[in-house]
Amino acid sequence: MAIQTVKDLFIDELKDIYSAERQAIRAYPKLAKAVSSPELKEALQTHLEETKGQVERLDRVFEILEKRASGKTCEAMKGLLEEGAEVLEEVEQGSVRDVALIAATQRMEHYEIAAYGTVATLAKALGEIEIAGLLVQTLEEEKTTDKKLTGVSKSVNKQAIADSEPEEEEEEEEEGAGEEGEDAAEPVQVSKRGGKR
Ligand code: FE
Ligand code: FE
Ligand code: FE
Repeated sequence: MAIQTVKDLFIDELKDIYSAERQAIRAYPKLAKAVSSPELKEALQTHLEETKGQVERLDRVFEILEKRASGKTCEAMKGLLEEGAEVLEEVEQGSVRDVALIAATQRMEHYEIAAYGTVATLAKALGEIEIAGLLVQTLEEEKTTDKKLTGVSKSVNKQAIADSEPEEEEEEEEEGAGEEGEDAAEPVQVSKRGGKR
């Protein structure tokens, strides 16, 4: 058994999230390209940049621990990204796909929130205060991203529902357009009574 102590487990968990982050970095540009909402695209691009910083933080964590970061594949992130790729095959580009990709991305964020919550707590328990600080910073970024996506979903959902509705017949023909003209054209001869007999 390679993992015997809590410290071993801690390092294993860190390797897992390291793998998850690196997979996410490869996937985000594809996801950003596949969405239509400019707001959503911006959110994904921002988080891609943030994620690169998160990997740097993890590099620093491994440096402090004097351990190698590589050597593990996060199968969960792999699966989540496969589900994201399915969306691209099953839903054509547009507002409904945006809804599906927000769902897929939030699943990724929730996984990360769980993972960073665990390693941040373990770091504190193990007395690794500097490491805990780095991990909490990332944890907060993941939570903020999740909230931002929930915010973006409000307008995206509305758009997608509107786009999903069958087209309504336009019955609002302009009424009363000629009224003014008719009035003006009508000759009024009220007081001429008796003039012609
Ligand atoms: Fe991340
Ligand atoms: Fe994992
Ligand atoms: Fe994230």
